[in-house]
Amino acid sequence: MNVLIVYAHPEPRSLNGSLKEFSVKRLRDAGHAVQGSDLYAMNWKAALDAGDSLAPATGDRFDPSRASKYAFENGLQSADIAAEQAKLKWADAVILQFPLWWFSMPAIMKGWVERVYAYGFAYGVGEHSDARWGDRYGEGTFAGKRAMLVVTTGGWESHYSPRGINGPIDDVLFPIQHGILYYPGFDVLPPFVVYRTSRIDEEKYAEARDALGERLDNLWNTAPIPFRAQNGGDYRVPELTLKDDIAPGRAGLGVHIK
Ligand SMILES: Cc1cc2nc3c(=O)[nH]c(=O)nc-3n(C[C@H](O)[C@H](O)[C@H](O)COP(=O)(O)OP(=O)(O)OC[C@H]3O[C@@H](n4cnc5c(N)ncnc54)[C@H](O)[C@@H]3O)c2cc1C
Repeated sequence: MNVLIVYAHPEPRSLNGSLKEFSVKRLRDAGHAVQGSDLYAMNWKAALDAGDSLAPATGDRFDPSRASKYAFENGLQSADIAAEQAKLKWADAVILQFPLWWFSMPAIMKGWVERVYAYGFAYGVGEHSDARWGDRYGEGTFAGKRAMLVVTTGGWESHYSPRGINGPIDDVLFPIQHGILYYPGFDVLPPFVVYRTSRIDEEKYAEARDALGERLDNLWNTAPIPFRAQNGGDYRVPELTLKDDIAPGRAGLGVHIK
């Protein structure tokens, strides 16, 4: 299988750097092909702007979606974007690895998503009408591929528990897992999270490394998070609200999981 690891940490000798190197070796030793996008090492350009399209500017203002669509359809994207899209097409599984920074991914990785997820590639896919709202949330370009987050946090596990002050980890990661990964079609595996990183010593590092190794060994047979498919019958179209008989009386992020 082909695995792409998209990784964001500025220091190779960090906890994240060590775990990333471990993952590459573990996957290769198991016979998988691995490619990496080490965003800091690549000096990845994080900000989406008009320079992302090689097409001459048209109109009197820059429209990010329209420019992205035109560049994607006409082979006029900047080379760094096209190269990352090729890696995504190649991959059977994608791992996004990062330290949790301000309750989300580091800005450099958000910028990778914004620029690589072009119109026509990751969004704006499929028929959009009053009867069908595109191929997304369970369908789309990445259907059939798997994705998993590997995340480290300064906060304790209890801080991210169902009644913890930071909010449950599944809610904190929902915009990434449901929005960035499930939306364009990935099957999203439960995240691998290392909490309370300031307390990591040799013993705890070995535990985390072994637990991650197990998750990597089971990348192909771990059950994905059972998010509800947009076009699976649970939602009204085009309102895209859950039908009344689905999770009746409940609201919040958790209702989008079966
Ligand atoms: C801008 C910013 C925003 C943040 N926002 C949040 C937030 O919203 N929520 C939150 O919970 N946290 C937050 N944090 C904390 C952050 O998530 C952690 O600092 C980060 O996850 C730690 O990962 P690291 O790779 O940088 O660890 P490091 O600092 O590199 O390492 C952590 C520990 O692991 C040890 N270690 C590293 N490698 C090894 C090894 N090979 N063997 C043994 N021990 C090792 C180190 O000695 C160290 O003690 C934030 C931090 C920053 C800088």
